[in-house]
Amino acid sequence: MEKEYRVCRRCLMDTSDPEIQFDEQGVCNHCHDYDRLIQQRVLKGEAGLRYLEGLVAQIKREGHGKPYDCVMGVSGGVDSTYVAYMAKTRFGLRPLAIHMDNGWDSELAVRNIEETLKRLGIDLYTNVLNWEEFKDLQLAFLKASTPDSEIPSDHAIWAVIGDMAEKLKVRYILSGFNVRTETHLPRAWSQGHFDWKYIQSVHRQFGKGKLKTFPHQGLFTYYHRLLTLRRVDILNYLDYNKQEAMQLLERELGWKYYGGKHHESIYTRFYQGYILPTKFGYDKRRCHLSSQICSGEITREAALAELQKPTYAPSMQEEDREYVAKKLGVSDSEFETIMQLPRRNFLDYPSYGRVIEGPLFKGIYDGLRSMYRSVQQRRNRAAES
Ligand SMILES: [Zn+2]
Repeated sequence: MEKEYRVCRRCLMDTSDPEIQFDEQGVCNHCHDYDRLIQQRVLKGEAGLRYLEGLVAQIKREGHGKPYDCVMGVSGGVDSTYVAYMAKTRFGLRPLAIHMDNGWDSELAVRNIEETLKRLGIDLYTNVLNWEEFKDLQLAFLKASTPDSEIPSDHAIWAVIGDMAEKLKVRYILSGFNVRTETHLPRAWSQGHFDWKYIQSVHRQFGKGKLKTFPHQGLFTYYHRLLTLRRVDILNYLDYNKQEAMQLLERELGWKYYGGKHHESIYTRFYQGYILPTKFGYDKRRCHLSSQICSGEITREAALAELQKPTYAPSMQEEDREYVAKKLGVSDSEFETIMQLPRRNFLDYPSYGRVIEGPLFKGIYDGLRSMYRSVQQRRNRAAES
């Protein structure tokens, strides 16, 4: 039965999220999550800076004598470039930048990465995916007809970053994740990022060859890394303003804007701007704008007006559609057939699934984590004194 249409009174999230819930005031669960995450993970002004400085001192201490003291992923986009800039110029860290080339980078993104890192004096490691294998996997996900086609890329980049951190024996991963602008994302719109079994089962069912070189991490490795590596979302502790950051990067590093969130990758642009909204009715701008409403960056009215516009220029969508189909090796009609397949979801395929989100698994993991953290804290105190 179709649910009655409803939209949050505070943000723009609506019943296009099949799991959305509203409180008595008509405010959605994502807004409540946002408020909680801001409380838990964001520090403003002096407090944020002081926290970061403490953390930076620890990163430097642990990295002493090593070629790098942390690693970070770069996409050529504004957030990761700004993280690189701050890490190097403001905090004097020595990151190794890691980029995963999945074959869909825009020229501008590649140029941004090379130019900005050169100016910052940060080394770059690029992992180029085996295109034939990755193409087969991407096509398999499209045929699986779930909204999770971007999962393989996300999975691989975290696997590559984790592998490199372990190889370099560094514990810290700098990230450009930002609570203030990246919350409000419904689980149903993309899931299984860390679920290697899901990726494998989709590929087994719809792919052709074998995944021989695709970077991945199994369940044990994933949890082991959650315990031993530490992601530092530095934007949560800085009074980060994207517009100002863009101007600064243009001025200082010769960085260039590429015209939209995640437009540094042609596939991501097309996937989020065309396939997701057309086939599934999921418009990721809705999440992004909703976070921005909550953070006070934009009014609800202005956000609503923004949402009425096309995701990006329709003529460019047409071009991208041709380009993507050709690059994936399918004809126009095959692509149309894929678009018309009945919609399915994560739970329709074998995966580690929701077991790992269940209370038992979480309980065991939380216990292990607090044990590990207290050992680490003791070690740090010993190192400091
Ligand atoms: Zn809301």
